[in-house]
Amino acid sequence: MFTVEGGTLDAADDLGAKLRARSYDAVVGIGGGKTIDVAKYAATRRGLPMVSVATSLANDGIASPVASLITAGLKGSYGVHIPIAVIVDLDFVESGPERHNRAGIGDVISNISALADWELARQVRGEPVDGLAASLARMGAEAVLSHPGHMGDDVFVTVLAEALISSGLAMAVCGTSRPSSGGCHEIMHAVDALFPGTSSHGELAGLGALFCTYLRDDRQRFAQMSACLDRHNLPRTPAEVGLTDDQFVEAVQYAPQTRPDRYTILEHLAMTPAETRGRLGDYTDALRDRLG
Ligand SMILES: [Zn+2]
Repeated sequence: MFTVEGGTLDAADDLGAKLRARSYDAVVGIGGGKTIDVAKYAATRRGLPMVSVATSLANDGIASPVASLITAGLKGSYGVHIPIAVIVDLDFVESGPERHNRAGIGDVISNISALADWELARQVRGEPVDGLAASLARMGAEAVLSHPGHMGDDVFVTVLAEALISSGLAMAVCGTSRPSSGGCHEIMHAVDALFPGTSSHGELAGLGALFCTYLRDDRQRFAQMSACLDRHNLPRTPAEVGLTDDQFVEAVQYAPQTRPDRYTILEHLAMTPAETRGRLGDYTDALRDRLG
């Protein structure tokens, strides 16, 4: 048994070196997102199967083919093998820090926005869409979106865990993070790069997804996603994650640079800072109207 310190590339390389010392048959990663990512990366580098024992549901990393690791102070995404099995301890999750776990809801429902971006890329640029990957990513998101339960109830937490796992499978099926990462995640990566430590992956992905859905003028989805984030006390405005409107506009402008090859609503609209500011004002008004 090895204890890993922090979710860094160094920690993952260090674990990889320890795994080299003896002939192990498999790696079992037990812990939260950072630990799982370190274990996935080290196991992939050693060519060993990995079992994910997740103590948190903060994002879809519990089963995804991506490890998010910090190197030289910056978060990078590394391709890894998906776990051969995922075990989630419901009691542990339900008694864990609620704000941390409910962020996974934001990550899951961001699939809705990511899939709309993928469809847009198909229409505009002829990018192929993998139907199986898209339906896996959509299935979990739709289930979480319309489920009335909350983080204290086994049924809802099971739906959330399964949705996070199907997001991971979706990415593995098509070999890219496309089904679960579009403009929503570009905004999240931009906030992480410009204003590190603002908020978690899932909270920012949920906020980014709601803003992108607004930009797409998809009123029905906007209402549905807004209600879901609100129901679970997840942030919907820049202020709720501690950003000023100016900072959020800066992040939206920077967002396309975080994934240069990815065509999303942000690249499609290619808004000027003044346009982004205008749309953010309308977005905030739309949320206020919705609250009544
Ligand atoms: Zn994500």
